[in-house]
Amino acid sequence: MTHKILLLPGDGIGPEIVAQAHKVLRAVDKRFSLGLEFDEALLGGAAIDTTGKPFPEATLRKAQAADAILLGAVGGPKWDQLDPAIRPEKGLLAIRSQLGLFGNLRPAILYPQLAEASSLKPEVVSGLDILIVRELTGGIYFGEPRGIERTAAGERRGYNTYVYSESEITRIGRLAFESARKRGRKVCSVDKANVLEVTILWREVMTELSREYPDVELSHMYVDNAAMQLVRAPKQFDVVVTGNMFGDILSDQAAMLTGSIGMLPSASLDENAKGLYEPCHGSAPDIAGQGVANPLATILSAAMLLRYSLGHNEAAEAIEKAVGGVLDMGLRTEDIYTPGTEKVSTEAMGDAVENTLI
Ligand code: NAD
Repeated sequence: MTHKILLLPGDGIGPEIVAQAHKVLRAVDKRFSLGLEFDEALLGGAAIDTTGKPFPEATLRKAQAADAILLGAVGGPKWDQLDPAIRPEKGLLAIRSQLGLFGNLRPAILYPQLAEASSLKPEVVSGLDILIVRELTGGIYFGEPRGIERTAAGERRGYNTYVYSESEITRIGRLAFESARKRGRKVCSVDKANVLEVTILWREVMTELSREYPDVELSHMYVDNAAMQLVRAPKQFDVVVTGNMFGDILSDQAAMLTGSIGMLPSASLDENAKGLYEPCHGSAPDIAGQGVANPLATILSAAMLLRYSLGHNEAAEAIEKAVGGVLDMGLRTEDIYTPGTEKVSTEAMGDAVENTLI
């Protein structure tokens, strides 16, 4: 059996970091005989330069044919003056919506070796391992009606609609429960059920769904308390599931607990667990081409790809262990460097992970 993986290097540091993840995937492919097949396509600024469009037809076709997609990042100052409709970031939104990627998984993991990088006390965050499951294609960001209008009294009035159907909640809930089964078997559902009817329904549906997962412990928390608890005692969480807007905010908050943006992977999945995997950071144009970018977020995204889309847990764990191993060896790219460790280039970091896997 073979698995088709589409690589979308993108812009800025994208090609440098995707090259490292590609190398690591080839190494696990060899070690575990996974049958990986790679293809490559254009997205973002690189696609605009070649085809005039941020998400060309050819990329859509390859994305549809792939079992999973690994993306670097898109965007950069070169394309900032373009019409917003054809900017690189549009390509990203288009690929997410065209592939129906409704479930966003963002782990916030703090390797004990990097505890000093967090702005919180090391004992609060050391060993942190949270998974935020955010609904990505519904809620208030997409609800209709929406707009800004002028009232009869002549003042402007803006409005959005916060809406979720039962099936949308069930779909993201299922992803959270299934994910919890691969981890610590706890799900905390975050809502604002004391104020918003839509989240009263959210809470009801999550509770009903939990009966299908008796081996997973479900708890509920209001979003304001969740924001507080994430900073007070973040290690109490295993999987956190929430809607689009709350997830947007809480996942950034959880990411920053770890203090190092170059370490954070993400996945966006469709109903069949086909997914787009990418680091949480952007294309970092300020350091592009210098060989100093941290490739570990992309390498860890490749591990998520193996786990969630291809079901190769053992290979995913091997990559995650290899990343821990190179940190133990004291290797650091510039963004996570502290005195007493060894500063290495993007490529040297990729090589070190690869060598640990062979
Ligand atoms: P950014 O994440 O690219 O960079 C923020 C800071 O973090 C920069 O100082 C950068 O050098 C550093 N950084 C980021 N990734 C790093 C890595 N792997 N190793 C070391 N340092 C790293 O965010 P930004 O500067 O706001 O955005 C730059 C461009 O990226 C913009 O065009 C933006 O639209 C785009 N962007 C793309 C995505 C995506 O493709 N998913 C996400 C966010 C931003």
